[in-house]
Amino acid sequence: TIGMVVIGRQGQVAAATSTNGATHKIPGRVGDSPVAGAGAYADSTVGGAAATGDGDIMMRFLPSFLAVELMRNGAQPTVACRTAINRIKKYYPDFFGAVICANTAGDYGAACNKRPGFSQFPFMVVNPLTNQPELHTVNCF
Ligand code: ASP
Repeated sequence: TIGMVVIGRQGQVAAATSTNGATHKIPGRVGDSPVAGAGAYADSTVGGAAATGDGDIMMRFLPSFLAVELMRNGAQPTVACRTAINRIKKYYPDFFGAVICANTAGDYGAACNKRPGFSQFPFMVVNPLTNQPELHTVNCF
């Protein structure tokens, strides 16, 4: 999945995902990517989130919606992302997945579930301060 959260100049928030679809695809499968709140979610009064990973597991927990709701209640993006991952981890400790989060103040973060072969998650950030893409990496937990 390519997941993206964009904060516009006037504070509009958009979030979206593509999906590779191939790894987990069975005929007729919808997956998490097109399901609002699962693959991505945005609220211009709060921020946005987008998820990648095993959509068949992740979509049961609406991690993007959860992360936005947590940010609405004051959680920083990194904390919101971690909590969304933790919610899934509680039931599926070995699931493969990551979530990115950003708020309208320009704060951002990400979180991922640590498993063999997946201990770090790279994500790109562009903002008016840097004006060019910066590679960030978060350690999975
Ligand atoms: N979340 C996607 C899916 O399950 C897979 C991906 O992250 O590329 O369809």
